[in-house]
Amino acid sequence: MSAEELFLGSEQGNQLYREAMNHAVDAVLGSVADRESPYSGASPDALAAEFDDAVVPEHGQSLHATVDEAASRVLDHSVHTSNPRCAAHLQCPPMIPGLVAETLLTAANQSLDSFDQAPAATVLEERVVDALRDLFDLPNGADGVFTSGGTQSNFQALLLARDRYCSRRFDRDVQAEGLPAEAESLRILCSEAAHFTAKQAAHYLGLGEEAVVTVPTDDERRLDPDALDATLADLDRQGAHPFALVGTAGTTDFGSVDPLPALAERANEHDLWFHVDAAYGGALATSERHGHLLEGIERADSVAVDFHKLFYQPISCGTLLLRDGDDFEWIARNAAYLNPEDHDDAGVPNLVAKSVQTTRRFDALKPYVAFRTLGRTGMASLVDRTLDLADDAAALLADADDFELLHEPTLNAVVFRYRPRAGMTDAAVDKLNAAVRRELLQDGRAIVARTEVEGVTSLKFTLLNPTATLDDVAAMLDAVRECGTVVADEPEVAA
Ligand SMILES: *Cc1c(COP(=O)(O)O)cnc(C)c1O
Repeated sequence: MSAEELFLGSEQGNQLYREAMNHAVDAVLGSVADRESPYSGASPDALAAEFDDAVVPEHGQSLHATVDEAASRVLDHSVHTSNPRCAAHLQCPPMIPGLVAETLLTAANQSLDSFDQAPAATVLEERVVDALRDLFDLPNGADGVFTSGGTQSNFQALLLARDRYCSRRFDRDVQAEGLPAEAESLRILCSEAAHFTAKQAAHYLGLGEEAVVTVPTDDERRLDPDALDATLADLDRQGAHPFALVGTAGTTDFGSVDPLPALAERANEHDLWFHVDAAYGGALATSERHGHLLEGIERADSVAVDFHKLFYQPISCGTLLLRDGDDFEWIARNAAYLNPEDHDDAGVPNLVAKSVQTTRRFDALKPYVAFRTLGRTGMASLVDRTLDLADDAAALLADADDFELLHEPTLNAVVFRYRPRAGMTDAAVDKLNAAVRRELLQDGRAIVARTEVEGVTSLKFTLLNPTATLDDVAAMLDAVRECGTVVADEPEVAA
């Protein structure tokens, strides 16, 4: 293909773009036509055999042919995230406004590190951040930046928390001088149900995973404030330096929301940076019915929100919000070619100074298009629907003799076990559920997650899809039962 054909701008290029995009859209629509099976069931070996020809052939082929090839090889063997029976992880069906925004932003290819690479996009990201500040009731002076997701947001929040603490407590400029001698005694607090990225961040920050002290949860799997008090007293006796408290608004397995007001109070008393990991639950802020669950988030020093979960935007799309935008100072730097200091003085916004990335996607366009199209109420009704479905699914499980419901859902995650016979031991239930889940993946009719609760393998629905119904849930439970029959004779399971 000629260069003119390959790039936008020329007549041939523009024509190819239109034709190939239409062709790609048809391929996508073809892949979502089957609403019965969210997965083909192909094994890793079968997939490896699909891709047995050269990735880099000596000469290429038509784009049309390549799209067809990719569609049959990749789309046909992808988990169909838009299928209502794809209910395993926090992997959402992407909403159409987000898909359209993704098309615009990838074509424009703006890079958010400097204003001269993304003029309107820079200003729009700032406006979206302002809207999020208001949505979470953060004060004027709050600021934020788009991230790749919760992992990056949590990491950056704890990075800023560490550097602020080291500056104030040890007069140490970590950016220039590295960790202080006291680094071994730095501690991060979170609940035992918090996301693993708190520990991962501690590792990346040079503190080690053992710097994270996990606090026990209550019987609804929320951080227990009394246990937090005991832990803080303990750390004080040890002479440790706790500097950050992570509250979770929507734990990955159970969707539980920590008691944020009580945590904010402790953070204030003990001079801890209060970070709220709302990667999952942040979307509740749009809902009049469920927004109260986030009470206390407005007292956070930082908030992580993911748009590629309950806000239904294509991956990747997240934000880190800071109560005090000046805290970005802890990582700020000036590069002569991107954001020279005289730009700062002249008020040119160069967002590179707020991010741990340099080249950065214009992901803010996705929530912008979504919010403008649906409004707050439209977004809220999607969230509300899925939380209602989770309640109905829990009731269905509680009524079924052969299933065991493990908790009342807070958000739309529902954890349960298949226990077809009364009197089965936990060891037998563990083996059965592990085998069922493996069989389900091969069967492809339902995508259900597995997790472990008190050492026993359990199953989980994450009911993110607003078009899913209780019939879909019932069909997924039937698929579990049928897979249970299939695996019943396996020596492992029968034993
Ligand atoms: C998903 C999730 C994360 C990780 O976020 P990514 O977007 O996958 O990087 C962290 N914390 C919680 C509570 C999450 O749900």
